[in-house]
Order: sequence, then structure tokens, then C-alpha cells
Amino acid sequence: MTTLILADHDGDILSPTTARLVAALSPFGPVDILVLAENPEPIARAASTLAGVATVFTSRGEMLSESAVALLETLAVHYPILAMCASSAGKDIVPRLAARLDIMPVTDVVAILGPDRFVRPIYAGNALQTLTDSQPRHLLTLRASAFPPAATGNAAPIQPIEDAGQSVARLIATHRTPGDRPDLATARIVVAGGVAVGSAEGFQLIEMLGRKLGAAIGATRAAVDAGYAPNDWQVGQTGKVIAPDLYIAIGISGALQHLAGIQGAKRIAAINTDPEAPLVKLADVALIGDLFEIVPQLIAELEKLGVGS
Ligand SMILES: Cc1cc2nc3c(=O)[nH]c(=O)nc-3n(C[C@H](O)[C@H](O)[C@H](O)COP(=O)(O)OP(=O)(O)OC[C@H]3O[C@@H](n4cnc5c(N)ncnc54)[C@H](O)[C@@H]3O)c2cc1C
Repeated sequence: MTTLILADHDGDILSPTTARLVAALSPFGPVDILVLAENPEPIARAASTLAGVATVFTSRGEMLSESAVALLETLAVHYPILAMCASSAGKDIVPRLAARLDIMPVTDVVAILGPDRFVRPIYAGNALQTLTDSQPRHLLTLRASAFPPAATGNAAPIQPIEDAGQSVARLIATHRTPGDRPDLATARIVVAGGVAVGSAEGFQLIEMLGRKLGAAIGATRAAVDAGYAPNDWQVGQTGKVIAPDLYIAIGISGALQHLAGIQGAKRIAAINTDPEAPLVKLADVALIGDLFEIVPQLIAELEKLGVGS
């Protein structure tokens, strides 16, 4: 069974999520990748190194859902599996493509049990559904953080195909958040703060601990709504879904909507004044006390050990 994956990228760099999709789907047959970008070559070169990739197709054009859907619709006849990351691009493209192909998509896949058997969270992550997709073609979005990345070292051929057609939509601008932190969606360590952090200045403490540990920074919706943290740090049902090796939750109660975003975390450490908080009960390690005392102590200990910058 050959799979076609639409590469996720920021216009210049291949997202690490694509390597995870390749690893998830390559056990079921060869994987082709489509790179749709104004300058697709450097992204395609990175994609061609991923183990399990048979061919990388490049198409020149803006990565807009209208153009991507038109392109994928013509390519779909060759592929029993079409897959995208459950990112904002994937969530935009897949429903439109599903309507055009008249098939039902399987979204937010977190495990693949066979070429037509998939596991996905339902009820805001409170239950996992295993389903057999009996349609002849499967259209999937995958939560990349649930899968390990593919190895590199491959040199798959890169083949240009037709340019993407003109779209009625135009990309006006892309605004990037500058920073050298790991990507929240795929980071190995995430340090996150809740509304108890109290202010944007308070979040500098969370960032300081994060920097020491080489971690990505997350936040609860309450912290984001209060203006203490930017929107793209939000973790949870309506934010990012993460699966780090270590999740450090600071002043976070553990509301169901937040827990929906951290189910894939392998180890959880909680810092909270309330020993009864749901996240404290869920955590592998809990430090009960005031975050404004504990976090500076942790930073000082890491400094003593010479960990981080
Ligand atoms: C439709 C919908 C979608 C939602 N989506 C999301 C989502 O995606 N992500 C999300 O996070 N939330 C989401 N929410 C909101 C969610 O229900 C909670 O309100 C939110 O997660 C609570 O955030 P919090 O833990 O920061 O705040 P709180 O629940 O107020 O918890 C604060 C915690 O900090 C502790 N604390 C207080 N002071 C200190 C201190 N000095 N030191 C240490 N600990 C301290 C308290 O004991 C408490 O446990 C959603 C809600 C709805 C209705």
C-alpha cells in the first residue's frame, strides 16, 4: 500500500512532524511525500533523507488549502492512503479534500494497528476509539507527537510535478515567532505554567527553568486568556497536543480540557500548592508548595549542577 504524505513546513524548513508521519506509515508500504511550496527544493531535500520515503514530489505554489486540495485530488487516484499532520494546515485541508473525494476522513490518529485500523481519541481525549476504516481509500490526519521520528540517511529521488494552480485566496503575510526553543508539539521536555503564575513577568520564571532544561514552554488556557502567555503556547483540547518525555506542570490544576493535550506525556512532574489537584494526583512526581519558592530553588540547583545556560 503506497501512502502519500503532504509535507508540513514553514516555507523554508521541513517540520519535524513529517519524519514522524513517515515512521508511522512506512511499515505499511512505500511512502511518497508531496512538498507544495514557493521554493520546494530545500524542503524536498530534507524529506528525501527520511528512511522509508520512496519519492518526493515537488510542486511550486503557495501552501494554501485551495491549491493543496486541487493537487491532492488529482494525485489521490494513485494512493490508498493520504495522510497529513493534524496541524492547522492539515485540519484545514483534510475536510475539504474529504468532501471532494467523497470519503470520510479519520482524524487525530494516535496509533496505527494495521493499514485500515486506527486509534483516535474521542470525547475530548477521555476515551480512545479503535476503528476499522472499510473505505477503499483512507484519508488521515495524525497527531505527530504520538509517533517517533523516522531515521535519516535515505536519498529518495525528487521529482517535480505540475505547479499548483492559482487559488482564489492569497497569502498576504506569514509572521514567525522568533526564538530558539524546541517546537512545543514535538519537544522532549515541556515546562508549562498555569494561571497561578500570575503575570507575563511571572512566566519569565517558567521560561528560565525551560531554558535550563532545553524545554519548550506551554501554558493553560486560563493563563493565555489572562494575557500571561501567548496563544501558541496553549496546551490542551483547544491548544496543542503534546507527547514529551517529561512534562513539568507548574501551578496547573489539571482540568479535563488541559489533560486532553498531555495524554502522550511519558512522565509528569507537578508543582502545586494543592495536594488534591487532579494533575498532582496524575503526576509521577509532585512538589507541594508555592511555585515562586520551588521554581527558583530548582533553577539554583540546576545552576549548581552546571545544567543549561
Ligand atoms: C471548551 C473549553 C475548552 C478548553 N480548552 C482548554 C485547553 O485547551 N487548555 C487548557 O489548559 N484549558 C482549557 N480550558 C479551560 C480549562 O477548563 C481550565 O479552566 C484551565 O485549564 C485551568 O487552568 P489553570 O490550571 O491554569 O487554572 P486553575 O484551574 O485555576 O488552577 C490553578 C492551579 O494553581 C495552583 N496554585 C495556585 N497558586 C499556586 C502557587 N503559588 N504555587 C503553585 N500552585 C499554585 C492551584 O492549586 C490550582 O491547582 C477549556 C475550557 C473549555 C470550556
